[in-house]
Amino acid sequence: MTASIAPHKKAKALKPGSRRPAKELCSECGLCDTYYVHYVKEACAFLNQQMAALEAAAHARSRDLDNPDELYFGVHQQMMAARKTEPIEGAQWTGIVSTIACEMLTRNLVEGVVCVQNTERDRFQPMPVIARTPAEVLAARVNKPTLSPNLSVLEQIEQSGLKRLLVIGVGCQIQALRAVEQQLGLEKLYVLGTPCVDNVTREGLQKFLDTTSRSPETVVHYEFMQDFRVHFKHSDGSTETVPFFGLKTNKLKDVFAPSCMSCFDYVNGLADLVVGYMGAPFGWQWIVVRNDTGQEMLDLIQDQIETQDVMSKGDRKAAVQQSIPAYDQGVTLPMWAAQLMGVVIERIGPKGLEYARFSIDSHFTRNYLYVKRNHPEKLADHVPEFAQRIVDQYELPD
Ligand code: FAD
Ligand code: SF4
Ligand code: SF4
Repeated sequence: MTASIAPHKKAKALKPGSRRPAKELCSECGLCDTYYVHYVKEACAFLNQQMAALEAAAHARSRDLDNPDELYFGVHQQMMAARKTEPIEGAQWTGIVSTIACEMLTRNLVEGVVCVQNTERDRFQPMPVIARTPAEVLAARVNKPTLSPNLSVLEQIEQSGLKRLLVIGVGCQIQALRAVEQQLGLEKLYVLGTPCVDNVTREGLQKFLDTTSRSPETVVHYEFMQDFRVHFKHSDGSTETVPFFGLKTNKLKDVFAPSCMSCFDYVNGLADLVVGYMGAPFGWQWIVVRNDTGQEMLDLIQDQIETQDVMSKGDRKAAVQQSIPAYDQGVTLPMWAAQLMGVVIERIGPKGLEYARFSIDSHFTRNYLYVKRNHPEKLADHVPEFAQRIVDQYELPD
C-alpha cells in the first residue's frame, strides 16, 4: 500500500498516559493507541457525533425515527429473546457472544476476533487481544465492567495481514471502528456488539464495589438486572442482590466515567448484531439483528439456542419522570424502603421491551442534563436526533 492510500501509517500512536484529544470525555476506546489516531477528529465518538451517517453506511438505510421500535433500538430486521440450551460456564449470561465468535473461527468465516481478556493479576483489568482460536475467545468471556481500549489492537490487523475479522465491542468503540473501517484493508468486517451503559474506570469500579457490595474483594461478576436489582456473584459461588433504589447515589454520582455520562449509543446502533439482556425476560438474552451480516452470524448458532418473541408490558413514563429529580439530587432511600420499592416495581413495573425503554429513558435524560451542564457548547452537535426525541418526552430541571 502506498503512503497516499494509507496516510495514517505516518502517524504515531499517542503515548500511554498522555492526554487524549477528547480530553475528559475520552472513553479510552483504544483508537489513539494506534496510528489510526490520524483520523481521531472525524472518528472519535466524543469529538464528532455522526451516528446518522454511519448508520446509513453500515446498514444501507437510515434509522426510521417515526417507527417507535427503531427510534429506541436502532435499525433492525428482527428482535428476539434467546438463550443457549447449554450455557457456557463463566460467561456473562449464557455465552451467545462467545459461541458466535467461536463458530466464526471454526468455520473459517474469519481469521481473527477482537475481544477482551483480563490480565493475570486482576480479573477486572481489560486486556484486548485478537483471538485466533476458540480457546482464546473463551478466555475473553464475561464482562470486564471497565473502560476497555479494544481498538488498541487495530494496528496488528495490517501487520498480520488479516483480511476477515470479527470485532466484539461496545458502542463508542464501534463508532470509531466504523469511521475507520475503510482504512483497515479488510475484505470483510463483522461487528458483534453489546449494549453498554454506566461504565467506569478501574478506580471507579473499586469505589462502586466498595460502596455497594458486602464483600467487594470477592466479587467476580455483576449486572444491573431487569428485576431492578444489582446481582453480585462472589468467588465462593454465593450471590448478593442490592436494589437499584438503595444504591448510594450521592456517593456514586461521580463514579461513572464522563464519557459514559455523555453517551447516547446505549444499544450499539452500528453493530451488525447486538446481544444484550435488557429487552428480554429475566434469564434470557436480547438479540437485535440489524442487517444481513448480523443474520448470517446468528444463523451459525440456531441449533444451540432456544428463542421466544420479545414482549412488552407496563408503562415506564411516570417512573422515569419521578426518577429524574431523585437522581439529580442524589437521594438514597433507606434499605427497607428500597427493598419494598423494588418488590412493588418488579410486580407492576415495565417488562421486556418496556424495561429496555425505561432504562434508555432514565440514562438519556440523566446524560442530557450532564452534557447540558458540563459541556453546553457541545450539546447541540453531540446529542443525536433519536436521543433528542426521546429526551423531549420528559420535563427536565435546569
Ligand atoms: P460472553 O460470551 O460472556 O462474552 C462477553 C464478551 O464481551 C466477550 O467477548 C468480551 O470480549 C466482551 N467484553 C467484555 N468486557 C468488555 C468491555 N469492557 N468492552 C467491550 N467488550 C467487552 N446489556 C444490556 O442489555 N444492558 C446493559 O445495560 C448492558 N451493559 C453492559 C455494560 C458493559 C460494560 C458491557 C461490557 C456489557 C453490557 N451489556 C449490557 C451486555 C451484557 O452484559 C452481556 O455482555 C451480553 O448480553 C453478552 O453476554 P454473553 O453471555 O453472550 O457474553
Ligand atoms: Fe481517542 Fe477513543 Fe479517547 Fe476518542 S475515545 S480520544 S478516539 S481513545
Ligand atoms: Fe462507551 Fe457509552 Fe459504554 Fe461508556 S457507556 S463505555 S461511552 S459505549
